[in-house]
Amino acid sequence: MSFTAGFVSTRPLYAEVAVPVPIHGPLIYRLADGLLPLDGTEELVATPGSRVRITVGRRELRGVVLRLLDEPPAIDGEIKEIREVLDREPVLTNELLSLLTFTADYYLAPIGEVSRMMLPAKLAPWGERRVSLTNAGALAPPRDEAEARLVEYLLAKPRSRLVEVQRDLRISDLAARLEKLAKAGRVSLEEPGSRRGIRYVSAVELRPGELDELLEECGRSAQGRDVVRYLHDLGRPATLREVTGEVGCGDGVVRRLTELGLLRRFTQPERLDLGRHRLSDTAGRPDFELRPDQQQALDAMLNALSSRDDYTGFLLRGITGSGKTEVYLRAADEALRQGRGVVLLVPEIALVPSLARAAAARFGDALAILHSNLSNTEREQEWERLRRGEAKIVLGPRSALFAPLRNLGLVVVDEEHDNAYKQDKTPRYNGRDLALLRAQKEGAVAVLVSATPSLESRRNVELGKLQGLELTARAGHGALPEGILVDLKQEDRPLQPGEVLFSLRLLDEMHQALNAGDQIILLRNRRGYSPILMCRACGQDFRCEDCGLPFTYHRSGARLECHYCGRERPVPSRCSECGQTSLDPVGAGTERVEEQIREIFPDVVVDVLDADATRRPGGASKVLERFGAGETRILVGTQMVAKGHHFPNVALAAVLSADTYLGFPDFRAVERTYALLTQLAGRAGRGERPGRVVIQTFHPEHYAIQAALNHDDAAFVGPELHFRRNFHYPPYTRMVHLVYRHKDQRRARQEMEGLAARLANHPLARGVLITGPASAPLERLRGKWRFQLLLRSALGAQLRQLVREVVLPLALTDLTIDVDPYDLM
Ligand code: ADP
Ligand code: ZN
Repeated sequence: MSFTAGFVSTRPLYAEVAVPVPIHGPLIYRLADGLLPLDGTEELVATPGSRVRITVGRRELRGVVLRLLDEPPAIDGEIKEIREVLDREPVLTNELLSLLTFTADYYLAPIGEVSRMMLPAKLAPWGERRVSLTNAGALAPPRDEAEARLVEYLLAKPRSRLVEVQRDLRISDLAARLEKLAKAGRVSLEEPGSRRGIRYVSAVELRPGELDELLEECGRSAQGRDVVRYLHDLGRPATLREVTGEVGCGDGVVRRLTELGLLRRFTQPERLDLGRHRLSDTAGRPDFELRPDQQQALDAMLNALSSRDDYTGFLLRGITGSGKTEVYLRAADEALRQGRGVVLLVPEIALVPSLARAAAARFGDALAILHSNLSNTEREQEWERLRRGEAKIVLGPRSALFAPLRNLGLVVVDEEHDNAYKQDKTPRYNGRDLALLRAQKEGAVAVLVSATPSLESRRNVELGKLQGLELTARAGHGALPEGILVDLKQEDRPLQPGEVLFSLRLLDEMHQALNAGDQIILLRNRRGYSPILMCRACGQDFRCEDCGLPFTYHRSGARLECHYCGRERPVPSRCSECGQTSLDPVGAGTERVEEQIREIFPDVVVDVLDADATRRPGGASKVLERFGAGETRILVGTQMVAKGHHFPNVALAAVLSADTYLGFPDFRAVERTYALLTQLAGRAGRGERPGRVVIQTFHPEHYAIQAALNHDDAAFVGPELHFRRNFHYPPYTRMVHLVYRHKDQRRARQEMEGLAARLANHPLARGVLITGPASAPLERLRGKWRFQLLLRSALGAQLRQLVREVVLPLALTDLTIDVDPYDLM
């Protein structure tokens, strides 16, 4: 702690605290005497980044201290006291605190909700750790009066919680003493959580430095030198068992190296069970040589890494299957070698089990995985390993960008175009954008990766904000799949609205692929059996009472489900209007497509990958593993099947209807179509034999479809940028989307009309385009009517300031503010 008793006059008495309630700014609390940094009577003092227990109204909550204030704040009314400080060391570093403030400010989100999102839900307070005397501690003579009291206390009450010890004994430097005693083996400290089944093991880390110098300090012990060499080559900490096992030495060798200051010893939770990701299955680092284009991209990254504290941002665009992953993993190797931290973001880990496996094999215990399926305890454990510096590289979805890594070196955002980086509830941040910002603030290198980069990122290359890198060749045999276009207008059989068809050409291609022993991926971007259940007698369909939209019929489980609010009900046996039993499914989702395939190819094993499959035990990884092992021949699914999977035996990829998105009232509809089709095509022909992609569509001439078909990126980007520029959409403008919800339709409209007028009359509204108020495309959701306003401006900062000044003070609880929105429905 850097406070000294000399500065009494500037002693902070108040603190700004981020409190998890929907209030935009922080709240101010007074520090009780014992919690002052200068007081010295307590171990737990309030510092920026530590958690505190406070009350809001009558509720007891946990907040995070943002700042200490010397002056009493100029606010009326009672200022409450901080009840208790929960952490001995800040849980948020200064860098993360500044990211926290930025996020709340930029996304116009309540700061307490941002801070809550940045921390694991179950992070136990420091005081929850338990302490006991060891045998040695019980026997050794106490060194002073305080220690004598401590020993006596612990003899009487073994496994005491630290808060209790502190409360009962009031020893001023309790934590420091305990740490010293623990090091001397006289007390044992139990990590919070260890009662919940976590086992801890010993691990060691090599001091950074040149191998020669380190070896010199080893002295003559051959085994000692082997240990140093082993850890140096490994480039990460290792468990004690691993070291002694690999080198073939005893614990004594490690102890001596620790005494020499060459190794640091610590405990860490035993490795998480990574499901079926067996570490020994794969060799750590593949030994193939990079192609020249890969090497060039890597060199640019290494070069940027070598200028230690400077930010550089890259956009790595590489056609599907060009080996982008290997390039950024090698850059990560280098960052780790420099002793710096690495963040690897992916849209969804469950969909890239092979990447998790490769990273685990490569980085061992230095890797922390923040999987969304982790239990709270596991997440806390991984998070703590990162905070303590035992893990230095994190792989996870968007929230992993907030990982408590120090000395950040590299941030990678894979599939940077993916919508999953945008959080669709408050705080509505974009993980890709914040990742860039974090890298900038911390002088790290950022790499955005995609085969189909977002137009925003492409534009940033044009503007010189990102440096463009390109991979143009494919690993393996080298060709992108041949594109085959099926014009559904030309098919003989008339189609029901929403129905999907297997064209003769598609069936023919499927037969060929199956006969050749290859695998097939089929994309159908709707889950369930059919999007509508309709009465043939009277034309009545079944709609969600709250949303007014048709229920999707799910045959498994015999239920109707509203895909907008999740409401479910059993399938009715007769029509609610006319009472007839003539209910027909109209159109087809994945479930029906699967059924059709079973009829056409009775002997072929089919599997489904969609959100319903993901919820079943084993989930997406199970489905993907079966497909990877060749047990499944045809994989049907939603856009999940088009993600970055690498299945070398897939010869055919097909989309049953490429038009699913094209009709959406969303300016990104075309971009999503292009990305989806390109990504889908990229799944085929990744092995030795060339692949094919079949695109069925009613709009064969559409530029997005043509571009995807012919692998002609420029044919998409040109017209699309033209459209965006003419209609004032990103990347040429910044947007804020406001949605107001109310049970009463007129109230909702009036409220938004009032808001639109206020916005328009504000001086900052100059140059801001205000569209609406209008009914949102989903005009009724969960029983509430929705009205929207879309604000656009070339000047993002001014636009946000306008909303900050006009909208935030109104504190409308039923209003959603979405900065840089993705979903305009
Ligand atoms: P992308 O992410 O660009 O679609 P991947 O990174 O999945 O492509 O790479 C596809 C496959 O090619 C992987 O199995 C990878 O190990 C392999 N690979 C990458 N680079 C090379 C190379 N230079 N030589 C041989 N194989 C490579
Ligand atoms: Zn609904």
